[in-house]
Amino acid sequence: MPRTLLKTHFGYDQFRPLQEEIINEVLVGHDALVLMPTGGGKSLCYQLPALLLSGITLVISPLIALMKDQVDGLQANGVAAQAIHSGMSPLQITTIQKQALKGEIKLLYVSPERLAVPSFQEFLGQLSVSLVAIDEAHCISEWGHDFRPDYRNLKTLRKRYAGIPVIALTATATEQVRRDIIIQLGLEEAKVFLSTFNRPNLTYEVRPKGGGAAALRVLASEFVGESIIIYCQSRKDVESLASGFSKNGIPALPYHAGLDPGVRQRNQERFIRDEVRVMVATIAFGMGIDKPDVRLVVHYDLPKSLEGYYQETGRAGRDGLPSRCVLYYTYADAAKQEFFIGQITDPKEQGNAQQKLHQVLEFCQLTGCRRAYLMRYFAEEWTDDGCGNCDNCLKPAELFDSTEIAKKVISAVLKTGERFGAGIVAGVLLGSKTVLTKQPWVQKLSVFGIVNDFTEEQLKSLIRLMAEAGLLLRSSGEYPIFTVSQNGKRFLMGSTPLMLPRPQTVSKSAKQIKSAKVTDQEYDSALFEQLRILRKRLADELGVPPFIVFGDASLRDMAGVKPKNLVEFAQISGVGEKKLAQFGSVFLEVIAESTAVIQ
Ligand code: ADP
Ligand code: ZN
Repeated sequence: MPRTLLKTHFGYDQFRPLQEEIINEVLVGHDALVLMPTGGGKSLCYQLPALLLSGITLVISPLIALMKDQVDGLQANGVAAQAIHSGMSPLQITTIQKQALKGEIKLLYVSPERLAVPSFQEFLGQLSVSLVAIDEAHCISEWGHDFRPDYRNLKTLRKRYAGIPVIALTATATEQVRRDIIIQLGLEEAKVFLSTFNRPNLTYEVRPKGGGAAALRVLASEFVGESIIIYCQSRKDVESLASGFSKNGIPALPYHAGLDPGVRQRNQERFIRDEVRVMVATIAFGMGIDKPDVRLVVHYDLPKSLEGYYQETGRAGRDGLPSRCVLYYTYADAAKQEFFIGQITDPKEQGNAQQKLHQVLEFCQLTGCRRAYLMRYFAEEWTDDGCGNCDNCLKPAELFDSTEIAKKVISAVLKTGERFGAGIVAGVLLGSKTVLTKQPWVQKLSVFGIVNDFTEEQLKSLIRLMAEAGLLLRSSGEYPIFTVSQNGKRFLMGSTPLMLPRPQTVSKSAKQIKSAKVTDQEYDSALFEQLRILRKRLADELGVPPFIVFGDASLRDMAGVKPKNLVEFAQISGVGEKKLAQFGSVFLEVIAESTAVIQ
């Protein structure tokens, strides 16, 4: 029965992992706690049961934007769903309440604040509720990153509806938050469904930041017509990157907490509606959007923690199609962050921030599989060392015999008195004139100008790698200086060879990394573009975001299979009964035209 509804109402042929088990658990009236990563397909776990249960399903959701998208999506699939939120007039609210009381609504989305309103409580008292779904359930926990005090209202809701099953869902994996959700919501009896947090369709990649904004634009130009999010730390950088993009012919919008709420709202809306493809943002952006077709998430600055990184990159490829996550890393950014952490006054907080930063740095400097590192970091069983879908697996770092150059570096550090940063040490080795104007005495040193086969950037990166290898010691602070460790001295005197990863040059790193074709299929890309245009037109007519009409996965399926009639069109992933009737013939027309041209 659920499987039939999966096709007729949602257009899918198969359940994603755990969906069917969760749905069955809810249908027999048990509570459930669902922990699945972003894009795992959590919504279906309560949306499908809602269709089979006799009463209404109440969905608690923290943001109006999320509610709207969900309601639009359900209505487009012919499901009677509505939302009640603060953006509506009292008349609109009463109308929907009346419909609900008459049993004309299957899913009702409400915000947690609403639950405390006395008139709304009265309404709830008359309502026949079959299931309560709590989306983004981590908002109930103070340990989480988006604590919402209003989520505490859910305790009363739970009492009111004792005996009615509750399904709580979140993409937050930490043990502490999980326990808190169980306690706060009284879910001790609930079955916990924990899915893997691996996102196989995402390609993880770290690049040196050397190329600046221009390199970023080159990367973006590989994603013509696709949605991109670029995260930066400061509002100033957000503004300047966004305007730089726009000036160079790639329209981009800024998003940060310093913008007027109206502007912020409009920028978000234009991004969701595929009117502007590039969003440059601080991490303030993201929670309110579940745009399924973001193909690239860039971290232009170091994230503050790996949890943050994983959450932000998680916004790529929710629809399961191959998508990329690129982090730009430079030694200077790490030093800058370390300096800021040095300013934190509370020692506990400082230690914590330091530890988080070091984990991020370790991730950036990995030469092994990045996914393996992330999975182990999140305490997930992970035995496979090569995922085949991160930069290190796709293009392993080349090691080279660095014995000679490393000895030159150590000599230079010693001869300059172990009191300079990487820039001066590199400058001395390269015989740089700039260094000479500041430190004329270095000209007499035997190491002055003895290197000509490395660039300054490469040398700086080698110095950093040598510090990681324990040959050099680096002081903390904004401008770290290098000294030579005991190991370094032993290495200098000895004859042990040293192999280090070859430092990447910017031009080399700009070489494309193509993500592995995980769930990708062959399709006619020209037709796909035409279908996208049609989708946008229909979406505008209906006043909904394009992905509500059809997701990219459905359009690719159409552009691959090229259905010739409604029966074939019905087989396309994402095509249920309602969409078949509403959109089938228009899409078939465009598909037929494109095939006619070829023949
Ligand atoms: P989450 O809330 O876990 O982030 P969603 O519920 O938004 O994930 O689902 C992510 C995407 O996967 C959506 O585009 C949704 O339509 C799609 N999806 C969900 N279940 C299936 C399924 N069984 N088959 C194909 N696509 C699915
Ligand atoms: Zn890998």
